[in-house]
Amino acid sequence: MNLPNMLDAKKRNSEETKHIYLDDKVSDMYKNKKYFIRTYGCQMNVHDSEEIAYILESVGMTPIDTIEGADVVVLNTCAIRENAHDKLYGFLGRCKHEKETNNHDLIICICGCMPQEESVANDLIKNHPYVDIVFGTHNIHELTDMLLNKMDNQNIKVYSMQGEVFENVKYKRDSNIKAWVDIQYGCDKFCTYCIVPYTRGKQRSRYSTEIVKEVECLKKEGYKEVTLLGQNVNAYGKDIDDISFAELLAKVADTGIDRVRFVTSHPWDFTDDMIEVISERDNIMPYIHLPLQSGSSKILKLMGRRYTKEEYLTLYNNIKAAMPECAITTDIIVGFPGETEEDFNETLDVVNACKYDSAFTFIYSPREGTPAAKMEQLDKKVCEDRLHKLNELINKYAKEANDKYLDKVVPVLIEGLSEKNESLMMGYTDTMKLVNVKGDLSNVGKIVNVHITDVKTWSMDGEIVE
Ligand code: SF4
Repeated sequence: MNLPNMLDAKKRNSEETKHIYLDDKVSDMYKNKKYFIRTYGCQMNVHDSEEIAYILESVGMTPIDTIEGADVVVLNTCAIRENAHDKLYGFLGRCKHEKETNNHDLIICICGCMPQEESVANDLIKNHPYVDIVFGTHNIHELTDMLLNKMDNQNIKVYSMQGEVFENVKYKRDSNIKAWVDIQYGCDKFCTYCIVPYTRGKQRSRYSTEIVKEVECLKKEGYKEVTLLGQNVNAYGKDIDDISFAELLAKVADTGIDRVRFVTSHPWDFTDDMIEVISERDNIMPYIHLPLQSGSSKILKLMGRRYTKEEYLTLYNNIKAAMPECAITTDIIVGFPGETEEDFNETLDVVNACKYDSAFTFIYSPREGTPAAKMEQLDKKVCEDRLHKLNELINKYAKEANDKYLDKVVPVLIEGLSEKNESLMMGYTDTMKLVNVKGDLSNVGKIVNVHITDVKTWSMDGEIVE
């Protein structure tokens, strides 16, 4: 048993990051067994689940989409908000019931960010003994060994400190058109509300040569789009003697893959070089997710965000000056401790100035162990009212941004059948707008020109043109 510790998770050492090349461990020990994975949270977790799926298949398993009939259930958790805990424990109750009533041999695994929290790991030991395997974000690669050496008692391995970067990681990717590519792990920013630097560890960048090699392979395999992934992608390279994020973007674009995207950037690390590279390369998509979090410089300081409202607006204006058509989306937290009505109005001012294409908006939720959790919390009703007001404004600008596309012809990468209407196909513009398109399956995986015939707040309709 190896448990996490929040104090250790906060430490940063100056040791050089080790880069370890993983070997493939193949076994047929779980041949004819079925696995079920449920993923909560962000793109990092979605991509981690692709790695977990590969590991489970390398020991002989095949996927199933219900827990009924599964031999192994993996719950890949998120720790960002309070309700993520509620969702996990709700589903865990179902797994427990399945194990107690129908399948006593069911192996229940919990992984991801939640077990990286000391309190959660302790709770799993004390109150959930039916959970068999627990592993953290730092030791996914040990899952094979944990499965092959499954013991009678709980097998818990969650490391607080992480000094490694794993290369040669294999994935069972969800799509054969678009792929996630990890470029760095962890984060050293320690925004005062955020649990990620504790659960994902210190910033560790992959070697640029390995990233470019991975993109070249994906291109050869027929992938059309890659998204470079990290908690703070534009801090890429600051922890190793390698190239900058702007230079990495250029090298990835040079592979000739059709579309390059990246998430998530931190305004503090956004350089003029990045703006130049994005604006110069046709295959780097004109879409940037630029988290604001708050429009009040006072609150930004309390959040530890390292930029002021004015600096954010200057960056926004510089991006728009270089790329007027670039879509910009954001994240905003309302109700952070200390946020007054004036502070909130400053957030609305920034939204009015930036007219975002869309935004993820949240009510602040305290995470145990972070500095902001110890600050005085705001009244829930005040937070809900602010969120409602903010969302109305966000929706208005999202619709206005989409309205500009009406009657235009835009390139769309067709991904598959529309979820809402199976007689339509769906895909995304280069600016990340969802489009439902009349067409057939022969268009899947192609970038086609689409005439936009109708626009809504969060999607558009269109027809393929020659
Ligand atoms: S930069 Fe992002 S991941 Fe890092 S601490 Fe801040 S909010 Fe969390």
